Amino acid sequence: MAKQKSQYKNFPVFLMSCLLVLFLSGIIFFSCSEPAHEKEFRSKKSQESEIYSNNSTTSIDQLLNSTFRIDIKEIEVVFDYFPEEWRVNCRSFVRFVMREGQKRPVIHLDPAINSSNSVQEIKLDNENLDFFDESDVKILSYLETTQKAIEFQRDLDEDVEHVLEMSYNLELPEGYPRFSTELNDIHGRGNEEIFPTLNTPHELAHHTITFNVHSPKEFRCIGSGHVEKSVGEQQWTLDTEREVSSYTVMFVLMPAEDTVYETREVAGIDVRIMAYKGGASISSGFSILESWLPELITNLGPFPMPRGLSIFLASYGGGMEFYGGTITSIWALKHEVFHMYFGCSTVNRTYRDTWMDEAINEWYEKSADSSFSSIWDNYSSNIVSGRSPVAVGFDQRAYDEGARIMQAVSQKLGGRSEMIGFLYYLHLNYSFAPFTTLNFLAYLKDYSGLDIEDEFIRWLYSDSQAYSLYSIFSAGEADKMMIDMTPPRMLQEKYGLIKSGKESR
Ligand SMILES: [Zn+2]
Repeated sequence: MAKQKSQYKNFPVFLMSCLLVLFLSGIIFFSCSEPAHEKEFRSKKSQESEIYSNNSTTSIDQLLNSTFRIDIKEIEVVFDYFPEEWRVNCRSFVRFVMREGQKRPVIHLDPAINSSNSVQEIKLDNENLDFFDESDVKILSYLETTQKAIEFQRDLDEDVEHVLEMSYNLELPEGYPRFSTELNDIHGRGNEEIFPTLNTPHELAHHTITFNVHSPKEFRCIGSGHVEKSVGEQQWTLDTEREVSSYTVMFVLMPAEDTVYETREVAGIDVRIMAYKGGASISSGFSILESWLPELITNLGPFPMPRGLSIFLASYGGGMEFYGGTITSIWALKHEVFHMYFGCSTVNRTYRDTWMDEAINEWYEKSADSSFSSIWDNYSSNIVSGRSPVAVGFDQRAYDEGARIMQAVSQKLGGRSEMIGFLYYLHLNYSFAPFTTLNFLAYLKDYSGLDIEDEFIRWLYSDSQAYSLYSIFSAGEADKMMIDMTPPRMLQEKYGLIKSGKESR
């Protein structure tokens, strides 16, 4: 109350700043000569408008374009993996165009940023650039995100395709011989840790990855999309066969002798499950999917990935979802497979919008219990507005408070089956078309006529509430986030990682 009143007192100043913001976003829609009671009303509305204009499609577009600068069409990587030397030689080709109004290209590649000796060669449109020469390459930091970028000191033309070639090394931790994606979307860590890309969900690209394993040991490989082994060679090619978000590309390479692997068709979907020998039970995984996949297909639509599902079933921890794949424990399996629909085919525009994937997922699970209560009266938070659209990671209140927000939406729509009907519609119409929280709201209105802008502003965009990390988390929910690929004890002993009687996790 006090805040609103002081805004009314300083109304001319407030109005000027609102007008400026609205002018900048190209929307001016109210005049200044209004009766007093209308002014008070407008004051409240213009406060909301300011929230909107800061988050308007136009200003988000501008911020995303000026931060990420390029649109990647294709990422091609060749990995030469030397398991006994804990290293990978990498050669990558990134084909891209400049975004509207942008000239100077940037890319994300953490090993180059963190350890400059890892870079061997850079070629931009066939010109050799020196990573150590500031007139060729600069490392950029930003106020609004912890993700650093590599900026190439050349101005490129729009509307022409450009090619960036980079050769670099990856050092893998010594221990168990495994090369795999290690993502954490909560912390905003994506595949920029192993290949050049842009660490933002909306940047969709076609990925082709070749793995050459240089080892006397036979290896096994699973991953996103179509994975094919060359006959007689330790070589695999992974092709996503369509543009997907880079942080949804998965692969796992491990010695065949340490793993078990089985393929089955479940509900017409090819499912491949790999696990450590002596680790998680593949048959338990399949038996969960026997009922789960048909349920998802009935409720949310045809399975989104034509090549089906590749699963590495970990013995411990939680899981992470990828395009047509997951690395997960049995415990998080259903949750991660649900993400094939929300997270890996419908894609959020920015990391901060990712609260929706978790909220929808958790809502689906929790609302099966009809006593699951919706978000409480007068709830407000900055789950979305508390983060910049270019920041990495998302607010973990998504899991519980987000699910309760979705329960409120569900109740307004008429109940669980009506909400599921909307989710089916959302998935059918907006897969691979990255959307924001406000887009979600607009799609909800298109679908049902339901207008809950005021509630969404309060629930997700209200100002300055302290970030209540882990406020409602149970230990179990926190676990769901972390992949743990620790091999079973037997394998740890085999590789000398533990002595008998001691276990390391
Ligand atoms: Zn999740």
